[in-house]
Amino acid sequence: MNVITRFAPSPTGRIHVGNIRTALHNWLWARKHQGKFILRLDDTDLERSSEEAAQGIRDDLAWLGLPPDEEHRQSQRFAPYEAALERLRAEGRVYAAYETAQELDLKRKVQLSRGKPPVYDRAALSLGADEVAALEAEGRRPHWRFRLDHDRAIEWNDLVRGPQHFDPSLLSDPVIRREDGSWLYMLPSVVDDVDLDITHVVRGEDHVTNTAIQVQMFEALGAPVPAFAHEALLVGSEGKLSKRLGSLGVEAMRDAGIEPIALIAKLARIGTSQPVEPVAAPEPLIESFDFSSFGRAPARFDMEELAGLNARILHQLPFQAVADRLPPGMDGEAWEAIRPNLATVADAADWWHVVVGPIERRDAEEDRSFLAQAAEAAERIDWGGNPWGALTAELKRSSGRTGKSLFLPLRRALTGRDSGPEMGPLTLLIGKERALERLREGSKA
Ligand code: GLU
Repeated sequence: MNVITRFAPSPTGRIHVGNIRTALHNWLWARKHQGKFILRLDDTDLERSSEEAAQGIRDDLAWLGLPPDEEHRQSQRFAPYEAALERLRAEGRVYAAYETAQELDLKRKVQLSRGKPPVYDRAALSLGADEVAALEAEGRRPHWRFRLDHDRAIEWNDLVRGPQHFDPSLLSDPVIRREDGSWLYMLPSVVDDVDLDITHVVRGEDHVTNTAIQVQMFEALGAPVPAFAHEALLVGSEGKLSKRLGSLGVEAMRDAGIEPIALIAKLARIGTSQPVEPVAAPEPLIESFDFSSFGRAPARFDMEELAGLNARILHQLPFQAVADRLPPGMDGEAWEAIRPNLATVADAADWWHVVVGPIERRDAEEDRSFLAQAAEAAERIDWGGNPWGALTAELKRSSGRTGKSLFLPLRRALTGRDSGPEMGPLTLLIGKERALERLREGSKA
């Protein structure tokens, strides 16, 4: 199957988890079918859009590992929008209307007070040439509406929501262009989807009604209607659409030490019937991606769960995946010894500091002679094999200590901590020289 998807944010700010999830699903579907994933910048609103925000979105997608295959900007495509509007106008599918915002508002209020749906009454369609001339003489400029075809029900089989059915007479003819010539979202999006041969439109369910209208626009333009997948929205851990989610973007994730793959693993699966799994690379997510596993209930996003998943993923990440973010000198062996203890990559520096020292002394008075004994034993044992095993075996025999009274003073003396990574590999990293020095220090406490 030839698949072309697009992610279409407005470059008016950075993207948040909700947008990231949409981008990811478009990317996963395209990758699954060796298709194309397009970034479309919806920047028809020239005042609110900025190059800085556009760059921010590109940077965010790059960090996430979701680079687009192509990029298009609506602000460079005004000519095809204009041409589509002219064509639809010639065919009677676009008409001029002159009501002001206040007049429209009043109409809606009257309809609502009569218990009627606030659908535009198409008064503009019955304006005579003289009335139009009078309005224009008053200085009014027209805005443009797309005339829905009321004679045919709108139907599509949504990849997530199943069969969809809309009665067009219950929808207002949408305004597609304002009096000042600026474009609203609806028609440009369809013209782009046609020109870029988009096969699948994947977006949030807040766009379902737009889709109903856009299906008629595709048909009016004589273009094939793409497939649609409208995913249920994302809610916070408290089960509501939270403000916090709207501000949670790549920057916040990076600050919290979240790996891109952890966020991807989470967002690929929440709200679906497939379990969230600690994958180290996106391939298994691509292979298993399937719209039919998506539920209709909102997807719950919980930052704490993400932090837990992040830790589980870190515990399997290979050295090469993190090497450039580790402290100088920390090698693959050190990474493998330390990673089971990490919640974030940044924590590795802390444990590396424990290896290279200096460490904080916290030895107990009553362990002094035991640590002196340990320092002597540490000189004798073979450091080539498993020094921690050899040291503790010898001290168990010579001191009679077992369990916590054997292990804790040694851990404290060697690391300055009460807990942490397994002592076997850690002792090897600390090495004979530093270990001896630390045990001797401990005996002087
Ligand atoms: N710019 C629109 C949005 O962010 C795009 C919607 C669409 O995918 O068509 O909501």
